[in-house]
Amino acid sequence: MTDWKNKKVTILGLGRSGLAAAQYLAARGAQVFVSDSARPDAERQAQAAEIEALGCRVELGGHSDAAVSFGSFVLTSPGIPPHSEVIQKALAQGKEVISDVELAWRETKAPILAITGTNGKSTTCALLSYMLERTGRVAPACGNIGVPILSQLDKKPDFLVAEVSSYQLEYTANFAPKVAIWLNLTPDHVDWHQGMENYRKAKQKMFANQQHSDYAVLNMDDPVVRTQLTRSEIFPFSTDMSLDNMVQAAFVSNDFLAYRIRARNRLVCAVDELQILGRHNVENALAAISCCAVLDLQPQEIETYIKEFKGLEHRLEFVATIDNVPYYNDSKATNPESAIKAIQSFPDKKIVLIAGGRDKATPLDEFVSAVRNHVAAVILLGEAKERFEKALREGGFNDVHIVGSLEEAVDLGGKLKLGPVVLSPACASFDMFKDFENRGRVFKDIVRARLDKMAPSVQS
Ligand code: ADP
Repeated sequence: MTDWKNKKVTILGLGRSGLAAAQYLAARGAQVFVSDSARPDAERQAQAAEIEALGCRVELGGHSDAAVSFGSFVLTSPGIPPHSEVIQKALAQGKEVISDVELAWRETKAPILAITGTNGKSTTCALLSYMLERTGRVAPACGNIGVPILSQLDKKPDFLVAEVSSYQLEYTANFAPKVAIWLNLTPDHVDWHQGMENYRKAKQKMFANQQHSDYAVLNMDDPVVRTQLTRSEIFPFSTDMSLDNMVQAAFVSNDFLAYRIRARNRLVCAVDELQILGRHNVENALAAISCCAVLDLQPQEIETYIKEFKGLEHRLEFVATIDNVPYYNDSKATNPESAIKAIQSFPDKKIVLIAGGRDKATPLDEFVSAVRNHVAAVILLGEAKERFEKALREGGFNDVHIVGSLEEAVDLGGKLKLGPVVLSPACASFDMFKDFENRGRVFKDIVRARLDKMAPSVQS
C-alpha cells in the first residue's frame, strides 16, 4: 500500500470511477486535481462540489495544462481514448497513465477475479460474486459493472470480482488478476482502440503479468480466446466440446453442466435448471463454475448457488405470467445481435417479440432469419418501426404489428396469445425513454399493473 501523504495525482474524468478515485486518494492524504472536459451541467457541478469539499481541486469544461502537469501520475477515466489530445500531452510529459483497475491492483492484497469479453461480462461478474458471497466470502461485484473497484477496497474483501473493460485494460501496466476470465471477442469499440488489433491486445493485457500460480479461464468455443497463450494455468470451458484431453475443464455433457478438476468429473445441474436462459448464459455459467472450481468451492455449493441465481435486471428478466402468458424484459438488447440471443433462448417456443426504438442502422438479415425461425409475431414501435417492418416483410415474415406505445405493445402481446411476450428491442431507447433501464422499468410497471388488475384465479 502506498503512503499517499502529499503525493500529487491528476484524475481525468469526473464519472463514477473518477469520483471514487478522488475520494479514495483524498481520504489518504493525497493532493488531487480532477479535470473533466464535459459541459459543467448541474450534475457535474454537484459532483465537483462534493469532491472540492474533500479538499480536491476541480476544473470543468476542459483539461488545462496545469491539470496535466500537476500529478506525479495520471489516473484516467475509461471514457478517454489513448489518441486523445490530453492523454498524448500527459505521455509526452513522461507521465504514467493508468486506470482505476491498475491502481486498485496496486493498493489491495485481495485477489482479483477479473472478467472481460465483448459480451456477458456483467452477467458473469454478478453470478460469480453471488456464488462466492453465498458461501460467506466477501466478494463484491465491481469495476465496469457500475460499482467502482476503488470504492470496495475498504470492505476488506476476500476477493474482488471485477468486470474489466478493454478501456480499463488499455491503461494497465502491472495488473495481474488471480483468475482472469475471457469470455469472447467480437468487433466492438474499434474506434476507441483505433482498430480491432488494438482491441484484442487490450483484452490480452489481462494475462501479461499473471504468474504460474494464477489461472486463465478461457472459452474454447471462441476462435480468438482459445488461442491465448498464458504463463498462468489454463482452465478451459466449452459448450460444444467435452474437452476429454484436458485435466481440468468445464463443459456440457448430455444437457448437464459439468466440470473436471484433479481428474475427477462432477455434474453441476441440468441446463434447464439454470434460471438464466439461453446458450450464451450457459457459457457465462461455465465461466463462473470454472472459477469456483479453481477456488475450491464444494460441488454442493456450486450446484446450489448457480441454480439460485436469477440473472440481472433487463437481461431476459422474467417479469410475470398473466393468463398463461409469460412476460420477459430484455431491454438491455440495444442491438440486433443481443435480440437474436434472446430470440434463440426460447428454442422450443415461438415468442411474441416487442422490438424497435432508436434505429442504429445496423444490418438486419440475421435478425430477420432468427425471427423467421423462433418468432410467432413481431410488435414494432419507435423510430425504427418502418425499417424493421420493411426488412421483415421483404424477408418473408408478415406477422408484423405496428403500435404507438409500450402499453399498446403489452396489451396486444397478451391478446395474441401466441407465446411468451419478450421485450428485446434490438434498438437504442433514446427516442422514447431516458435509457434502456428506464425502458425496461416502464415495461415491467405496465406488466405488473396488468397483473394487479387481473382476478387472482388467472394469475400465476
Ligand atoms: P456485458 O456486460 O458484456 O455488456 P451482459 O452480461 O450485460 O454483458 O449481457 C449483455 C447482452 O449480451 C445480453 O443481453 C446478451 O444478449 C449478450 N450476451 C450475454 N452473455 C453473452 C455471451 N456469453 N456471449 C454472447 N453474448 C452474450
